[in-house]
Amino acid sequence: MKAQLIGEPCNKCASCLSILSGENTDVVEMDAASNNSVENIRQIRNEVMYASTTSKYKVYIIDEVHMLTTSAFNALLKTLEEPPENVVFILATTEQHKIPVTILSRCLRFDFLRISQENIMKRLEYVLKEENIEYEEEAVKYIAKLAEGALRDSLSILDRCLSEENKVLRLEKVKEIVGGIGGEIIEELSEAILSSDYDKIISVVQQMENKGKDLRQLVYELTENFLEKMIKAEDKTMVAGIIDELGKLDSDIKGSINPSVLVKASLIKVAQNKPVSSSNSLGSVDAEKINALEEDIKKIKNYLNTHQMPRSGQNAGMQQVNTKVQSVSKVAGYKDAEEFKQRIAAKGKLKLFSAMSGAIIKNEEEFVIITTNEFAAKMLAASKAEIAEVLKSEYSIDKPVVIKYNKVSGMSKMEKLLKDSNTEYTEIE
Ligand SMILES: [Zn+2]
Repeated sequence: MKAQLIGEPCNKCASCLSILSGENTDVVEMDAASNNSVENIRQIRNEVMYASTTSKYKVYIIDEVHMLTTSAFNALLKTLEEPPENVVFILATTEQHKIPVTILSRCLRFDFLRISQENIMKRLEYVLKEENIEYEEEAVKYIAKLAEGALRDSLSILDRCLSEENKVLRLEKVKEIVGGIGGEIIEELSEAILSSDYDKIISVVQQMENKGKDLRQLVYELTENFLEKMIKAEDKTMVAGIIDELGKLDSDIKGSINPSVLVKASLIKVAQNKPVSSSNSLGSVDAEKINALEEDIKKIKNYLNTHQMPRSGQNAGMQQVNTKVQSVSKVAGYKDAEEFKQRIAAKGKLKLFSAMSGAIIKNEEEFVIITTNEFAAKMLAASKAEIAEVLKSEYSIDKPVVIKYNKVSGMSKMEKLLKDSNTEYTEIE
């Protein structure tokens, strides 16, 4: 790679401006998590034969590159061995050990560090000032610390803490919302899992959700609790199995738009499938309840399957990778909405990105975004034009954008939304 490639963007020249606005066709970004087949790489190989149109270099950014299949890596290797002139590949990953050595040996490596707490604080304060929201510095500091160097996490924590009638960000409130859950509740939930008490599992998770608790924190504390149990347990295999499942759940929650359903369903699955221990026979399985739950999951899957977002013409050939929804975790992940959010974020619209966490997107005559968060709804309503712009440029969707604020309170709002398309909401103009 030539030295002149490495430098700060000026953000003023035509190249910089077109990249910033996402209009530069010589910069192509691909998410390898959903475009991981050899077909996807072949498409790139065909494209790189053509010279760049406006810029000096053609740049391919392959995100989550470790997700590529072995054959896709092999196809990519051929291009990397004899790269066409003026083409630059940027491979991004957090799991470098999963990249074949043959690929690694042809790469120049840059390690990105986590963002400092101080810089995250600055960014959060900027967002708060932009939104004219008063805040306590200690509260911002607390959020920045919790985010552990990840800006996106800090924004979604901020978003949660500002929801509903909170117009001022106070440390006390932040702690109440994202702070710990505590021994008693966690012990109750552990016992419910061990005794396969499905009602109890659902009610405890619901209770925590109603209190606005972070369900990831719940899973974290639950895991800690089972780790303690494992040390004392006679049957360590069973507890280890549970911990393993909780670990998977933790990583699935991150991409989920409906963590509540995901956590409930997963914990019931853990309680249902745990290996029979010698001292603790499997609790009576309530078949009716499981059937009802499976029915719910099926409905959610159908909903998500019929509301897939079309992709841009450029990616049309890559579409089929995403259409089959195979597990609850993938349903909750809802890749297309996530991708849409990321495209918005890529345009520097981080505020919009965080406003959309937890929102549901319905793609009909109108492009409808539904959220249960009033603050987020207002932010989205004020940015309808920008959302429409991303839809048009990235997906060739030319539809009016409508933001709806769902007021259904109390019990599992998102579940109601998913089941019943006639939910009550008021439109924010
Ligand atoms: Zn420039």
